[in-house]
Amino acid sequence: MNKKQDTFENVLNSIERAATLLGLEKSDYVALEYPERELKVSIPIQMDDGRLAVFEGYRVQHSTSRGPAKGGIRFHPEVDIDEVKALAAWMTLKCAVVNIPYGGAKGAVKVDPLTLSKKELERLTRRYTGMILPLIGPEKDIPAPDVGTNAEIMGWIMDTYSMFKGYTVPGVVTGKPIDIGGSVGRSEATGRGVMLITRETLHRMGKPILGTSVAIQGMGSVGGTTAQLLEQEGCRVVAVSDVSGGVYKRSGLNIAEIRSYLNDKPGNLLSGYSADGIKHITNEGLLTMDVDILIPAALENQITLDIAPRIRARVIIEAANGPTTHEADTILEKQNITVVPDILVNAGGVVVSYFEWVQNIQSLTWDEEAVNQTLERIMVRAFNAVWEEAVRSNIPLRMSAYKIALDRIVRAKHTRGVFP
Ligand code: GLU
Repeated sequence: MNKKQDTFENVLNSIERAATLLGLEKSDYVALEYPERELKVSIPIQMDDGRLAVFEGYRVQHSTSRGPAKGGIRFHPEVDIDEVKALAAWMTLKCAVVNIPYGGAKGAVKVDPLTLSKKELERLTRRYTGMILPLIGPEKDIPAPDVGTNAEIMGWIMDTYSMFKGYTVPGVVTGKPIDIGGSVGRSEATGRGVMLITRETLHRMGKPILGTSVAIQGMGSVGGTTAQLLEQEGCRVVAVSDVSGGVYKRSGLNIAEIRSYLNDKPGNLLSGYSADGIKHITNEGLLTMDVDILIPAALENQITLDIAPRIRARVIIEAANGPTTHEADTILEKQNITVVPDILVNAGGVVVSYFEWVQNIQSLTWDEEAVNQTLERIMVRAFNAVWEEAVRSNIPLRMSAYKIALDRIVRAKHTRGVFP
């Protein structure tokens, strides 16, 4: 079995364990082992030099039991259908744990977006949108940004879909630029959610946030925003990393400066960053660093069987989707490390996507205060429910989150019944 197949198997494994805790029969949840729809597409585009290149793309709808399918689109050179299936299933669970009325989906194109010119990227996005068009729509499946995609790309998706329809449909996609129906607060929503969950976790553990040392793997949209907001809350962000490695400073890094260096030019990496008193470290060095809180905010399967026994952080806040392998999870549990699970921690993005979609279909706009306050209310309520269930049933937070989510999904399935 390849690693990506393993990832989907891991999700099923966690669903199975949560089902046992809930006392469910196999027939209550067996449908979740099979994504409702899987579409694989070939995307031919003309490159700037006149060559024709063909890319592979996917859209998977895992479940629509609780509402339209919802989930991001990833542009990454190593993505495959099994990874997309796992990511789609996590979306179903994520939307259920924060109780927003969506199912789960995910899409991807196997490409390194940094190797394309802007025009090539636009042609790729528009053709991919054309290929998945029969599946998407504001009432059935709503894409959003993920690793390797951004607001501009969402804008092209919205425009392409609207051109096919013959009228403007802002609600077909979330995470769009604000000028065309995007929501204030969406671009930083996932990171804001991570900050809120970190704050609540520390609060429940009776620890102060001020001076807490944090290491963050990944300085993309999620890791970067998280670092900045935690610094604002008084944390000491001592280490951050990207694909090129990481940087460390015991007294705390200058996050604003690092972010402006990384955003200055595409292709700028941390290996090229220098500042007084910083030390360059490896990604492994970051993951095994002696800090209060470790935040993986990059890709799946980073905390592995090999890394887990060497982790020194007391708390792991999973900002990425699926950063901890199943085997590593068991080790962390034995070591009494508190792991706050991805489906709760990173749900802030899809929660504000939900607000964006609601604004689009109602043709009205919320201000930033309304967005951030409602996000906080939803995240804190979901966190409290997960924490309290974990204490009540003496189970890890991941199992508690899965239990709450699965219960909601299975109830919706039962209430709707089976067609025909
Ligand atoms: N890609 C993000 C995630 O993994 C956001 C999805 C969305 O907003 O639909 O949660």
